[in-house]
Amino acid sequence: NKNEMQIVFDARSENEGFARMAVAAFISPLNPTIDELADVKTAVSEAVTNCIIHGYQQGPGKIFMECTVSGHSVVIGITDEGVGIINIEQAMEPMFTTKPELERSGMGFAFMEAFMDDVQVFSSPGKGTRVVMKR
Ligand code: ATP
Ligand code: MG
Repeated sequence: NKNEMQIVFDARSENEGFARMAVAAFISPLNPTIDELADVKTAVSEAVTNCIIHGYQQGPGKIFMECTVSGHSVVIGITDEGVGIINIEQAMEPMFTTKPELERSGMGFAFMEAFMDDVQVFSSPGKGTRVVMKR
């Protein structure tokens, strides 16, 4: 008994709020607690912000987001067609950032991993990045 949605939106910072609210609204039939909702929204924000700031640093593009609810589990996929990540393992290390000058702390992936039960990152340099998170 699966419920699924997909959204495509421009990689602009003003759409970050839209993305987190869309996921929050979609999972609301699960009756998540305030804390659970906050965790999922934070994880979505971090992934979407990464697409905007890192993925599409060289120009505009689209973010593809899908969410599947089955039973009490939620799977969220967030994909860009941006620059990609050369070393995923290094990128996921807490405090690793390629943008220290932009006051990035390198904690985005660490937050996603802390707030979700499982985080998988797939990426090809020059092709894009896909983050799949489960809770
Ligand atoms: P913070 O999230 O704390 O503001 P950050 O974005 O640099 O800082 P992470 O979100 O953990 O930290 O990401 C770590 C690094 O992984 C980034 O600095 C960037 O080099 C790379 N990265 C993450 N997401 C993407 C993406 N969608 N496309 C290309 N590179 C990415
Ligand atoms: Mg980040």
